[in-house]
Amino acid sequence: KIRARYAPSPTGLLHIGNARTALFNYLFARHHGGEFIIRIEDTDVARNVAGGEESQLNYLKWLGMTWDEGPDKGGPYGPYHQLKRLDLYKKYADELLERGLAYKDYKEGSDRYAIRFKVPAGKTYTFDDVIRGSLVFESKEVEDWIIVKDNGIPTYNFAVVIDDHFMEISHVFRGEEHITNTPKQIMVYEAFGWEVPTFGHMTIIVNENKKKLSKRDVNTIQFISDYEKMGYLPEAMLNFLSLLGWSPTGDKEILSHNELVSLFDEHKLSAAPSYFDKAKLAFINSKYIKQLDMEGLKKLCVPFLKEAGIEIPNELWLENLLSIFKDRISYGKEIVKYYNEFFHDDFKITDEVLNELNQFAKEDVLKVLEAFKDAVNQSEFTDATALEVLIKSVGAESGVKGKTLFMPLRISTTGEAHGPSLPVSLILLGKDKVAQRISQTIN
Ligand code: GLU
Repeated sequence: KIRARYAPSPTGLLHIGNARTALFNYLFARHHGGEFIIRIEDTDVARNVAGGEESQLNYLKWLGMTWDEGPDKGGPYGPYHQLKRLDLYKKYADELLERGLAYKDYKEGSDRYAIRFKVPAGKTYTFDDVIRGSLVFESKEVEDWIIVKDNGIPTYNFAVVIDDHFMEISHVFRGEEHITNTPKQIMVYEAFGWEVPTFGHMTIIVNENKKKLSKRDVNTIQFISDYEKMGYLPEAMLNFLSLLGWSPTGDKEILSHNELVSLFDEHKLSAAPSYFDKAKLAFINSKYIKQLDMEGLKKLCVPFLKEAGIEIPNELWLENLLSIFKDRISYGKEIVKYYNEFFHDDFKITDEVLNELNQFAKEDVLKVLEAFKDAVNQSEFTDATALEVLIKSVGAESGVKGKTLFMPLRISTTGEAHGPSLPVSLILLGKDKVAQRISQTIN
């Protein structure tokens, strides 16, 4: 039976690397119809962080992952916190002591001792890594290592074996920093005559300078919670994380949760460093935003508008605003930036945009703008349809058509040569701002 697990140490909030580890184990288990288990490795007590476990679980859920057994829901192989399993570790450490496969290492002049595993001499340890192929270690490379510290708490390398064995874990996908731990763990499996699970050590994630992404890298936002706070969508995050060291056949990159489960193939996990490409994340997120319906867009963006103190006069206004910027924002909070740029009181047309205007005959532009100014003064600005009528009337009045009509109108009101629907933009700006901006452009 396939059983994979995610075994976080609750030493911090869920970050990109953790989430990716959890995801690959999750996808592997789900793809093969197996089970996915969460176990909290909290034996390094001094490094445990308050709220760490909660953040881990909450954000795995937010990303859309589910598990069959874990600290929050129990299960037949529990408990799922290592600190609640100390008796079990003690039992097996004692057994190794009795059998002479481990020994007590007393601190100088004290009765406190750690327990060390006696590394067999002249042995070769080999395992077939799913991602890296056959890896070989000589026992002489490993010194007798501590399995239980002098406070009675087991070390990671010991506890992990006891747990993976008794939880019947069949496959372990984890970070490459654990490669050198693996021979130690195999020694313990062999000492007890237990079956060794299949290991796969995933690639590192690197930043734009090709350096391994560390938790202290200030240039990259690393906590999943921070992405939620900026208005990234969980489906997009999940999609992006899945491509950090894995890719399906073909060049399709936008993959739903279900597609990921059905396409996942552990043999396509890569050992080559994976670049954390922020632009790609933004691109993927914007794709998912484009697929949202109006309700979804509101849910994503309204909290950010409110947080910025932006007053929403009515639903129609809100829907106009969101429909205009839906294709531009790459995360929810960006709506505030576009709002600010769009409604800015200090309206300016850049030289670049002015150049676009200058390709039209000056007299045509002036004719259009004068006619527009008059029409605006007489218009009620009720809805986008009224504005369409208004634009038509400007065309009739000035005798100008097509681009020569639309470009001056668009540029003089929005300051942009290209953009979303002109009638909707105008209704959103409102009569006063439109009137003021045309006058400014004419002068
Ligand atoms: N608690 C370990 C970690 O967070 C788990 C390593 C493993 O999966 O064996 O790195």
